[in-house]
Amino acid sequence: MNKDIRIINNPVICQSLATIRNKDTDSQGVRIAARKITRVLLYEASKNLPMIEKTIETPVAKCTVKDISDDIKIIISPILRAGLIFTDEAIDILPDACIRHIGMYRDEETLKPVWYYNKVPAETEKPEKTYVYITDPMLATGNSMLEAVRLYTERNIPVKNIKSLNIIAAPEGIELLHKEFPELEIITAAVDDRLNEKGYIVPGLGDAGDRIFNTVE
Ligand code: URA
Repeated sequence: MNKDIRIINNPVICQSLATIRNKDTDSQGVRIAARKITRVLLYEASKNLPMIEKTIETPVAKCTVKDISDDIKIIISPILRAGLIFTDEAIDILPDACIRHIGMYRDEETLKPVWYYNKVPAETEKPEKTYVYITDPMLATGNSMLEAVRLYTERNIPVKNIKSLNIIAAPEGIELLHKEFPELEIITAAVDDRLNEKGYIVPGLGDAGDRIFNTVE
């Protein structure tokens, strides 16, 4: 396995994963457990943010503390619609981040992404100081994530500043991303076995969007 994949599988994550994988868990249960996982993945991702030291006063004494640099821009880019499950936690943990939605759906026949919404500006002011977390609970074929990563690298944002945040990843998606972007870090809670003929991750959790938004027919 490539070194640029980080699998976060502590007991709390495993418990939440077991909940969302279970077909008997209802939508509310899936959302709550998924959010718990996204919070941890976001904390992991934030390890690449530059820090500064500053002096503050506690009620007792002056002290030097570390803080996230205020000279950077953080972008959370959820791939619609399932990627939205990361956003509540993201703006909670990183209140200065901006949310730039990316709308792509998967053509059911070709399994290729089709763009329908893009809130990413054509130019980025300080690409070296911009940090991007692209969120999608399922890294399946990797086609949508690849398109999203390209969108940011085309704006000169270094690959080391971009992360793919996923709850479950398939080996096929990881391989596709690392073929073009070997340095891209993928942060996930699990790497499953494979994709099936419909492009679903096996064992996975089914259609993440449907399970999160209660649209399972
Ligand atoms: N998207 C999903 O929601 N689930 C999968 O298994 C694959 C892609």
